[in-house]
Amino acid sequence: MEKIIKLENIYPDLSKARSRGSKAIKYLNNLFELTSAQKKLGLKKTFFVRTYGCQANERDSETIKGILTAMGFVQSNDWKKANLVILNTCAIRQNAEDKAFGMLGALKALKRKNKDLVFGLCGCMPQQEKTIKEVGHFFKEINFIFGTHNIYELPAILENVYKYKKQVIRVYSHEGDVIENLPDYRENKHKALVNIMYGCDHFCSYCIVPYTRGTIRSRDSLAIIKEVLTLKKLGYKDITLLGQNVNSYGIDLGGKYRFVNLLEDVAKTGIKRIRFATSNPWNFDEEIIDVMAKYPNLMAYIHLPIQSGSEAILKKMNRGMKINTYLSLIKKIRKQIKNCTISTDLIVGFPNESDKDFKQTIKLYKKVKFDNAYTFIYSPRIGTPAASVVDKIDLKTKQKRLTKLNELVRKYSKWNNNKYIGKTLEVLVDGKSKTDTNTLTGYSHNWKVINFTGNAKPGDFVKVKITGSSLFSLNGKQVK
Ligand code: SF4
Repeated sequence: MEKIIKLENIYPDLSKARSRGSKAIKYLNNLFELTSAQKKLGLKKTFFVRTYGCQANERDSETIKGILTAMGFVQSNDWKKANLVILNTCAIRQNAEDKAFGMLGALKALKRKNKDLVFGLCGCMPQQEKTIKEVGHFFKEINFIFGTHNIYELPAILENVYKYKKQVIRVYSHEGDVIENLPDYRENKHKALVNIMYGCDHFCSYCIVPYTRGTIRSRDSLAIIKEVLTLKKLGYKDITLLGQNVNSYGIDLGGKYRFVNLLEDVAKTGIKRIRFATSNPWNFDEEIIDVMAKYPNLMAYIHLPIQSGSEAILKKMNRGMKINTYLSLIKKIRKQIKNCTISTDLIVGFPNESDKDFKQTIKLYKKVKFDNAYTFIYSPRIGTPAASVVDKIDLKTKQKRLTKLNELVRKYSKWNNNKYIGKTLEVLVDGKSKTDTNTLTGYSHNWKVINFTGNAKPGDFVKVKITGSSLFSLNGKQVK
């Protein structure tokens, strides 16, 4: 029988996470191999993974589910009945952390009734020392914690938990190498997320991501293309290329082969629909627009987070972008890509944001008339520079500003949607609408949500005549 190696606990350290190494990244293609004991560990056990936060986390959860499935566990859709529960957490805002803590409380209560329940925490939250302290204080029942850089260790972690009944904490502060060929479990059979890079080196002053996800590591382009071609063969129709800032793709590899080159090569695979996220405006390569205009399988959708309309605030955010440069970028996109949907992210109430700063955000919004925006009240993240600034703006003022901004978001979303009434759009069908089972739902080529009547199946492309619009979606009828 194989010996199970006892794992030492490793705790996170934000100051180590802040320091960036200069070592070249290695690509490890054959790191992951299960022992025969690990392959049997999950037999007759079920698992449930809850994912908080962004698409990078969603993709990590697919890897976690893939590993668990390879170990013999079977997915359960009810966390109360599962033998193993994993919370893959997000640290970007306090409310995401609060939700995970709420769920930990529920699991703690469940464990009082079901002693055999095993549960653990992973993702961005445990990359911060403060979370480990809080979790350690409130939740002694938790069986294991691991970080974003060592998902591949999950089999060994679970072996230690089940065999030695010890609490395992394994959170590396430094990112490791790029690990390829981990198992995965994609639930969606026509839409897929594809990582093109990990980490971020930009250090926006409010953002915890460079600490929780480490320095930039671009994947090898050939591995990415191979993954896309495999997905195409499997019948996938829509892929999203993922990175914290896709425009920085390749910088760590010398910068000769950039995101625009990758995008064009992915377009040439012929997969039906391709989009990307996230694409920050300060290093958005204008050649991307030319490539998007050239290949019809590149979706007419760009998410371009600006965060504030005030240059003074942008400077404080370490996102020193000139508003005029942003506006000319939007102009070029709209000129070259027909009906391109443009969305953005906006933070209100950044420390000491004045009325004048906020008015500039409103002014920018009215000028661009975004299709949509993800708006948030600034949430301090311990360890980031912005969190140590003394903020004189009270919460009530911030809430009022958010309400005002959201009114505009709704207004322009509807205004943009109305333009499509009477038109016929091609829709990739997702399935039945969650709110009305007599209605189907899907997305257009320019990433508009379309609810419609018809008889199509998930993964079909159909033509839909748009008959009306709601605040954030279009309504229609399938046509021949
Ligand atoms: S670009 Fe800025 S906001 Fe985006 S992940 Fe990097 S530091 Fe955070």
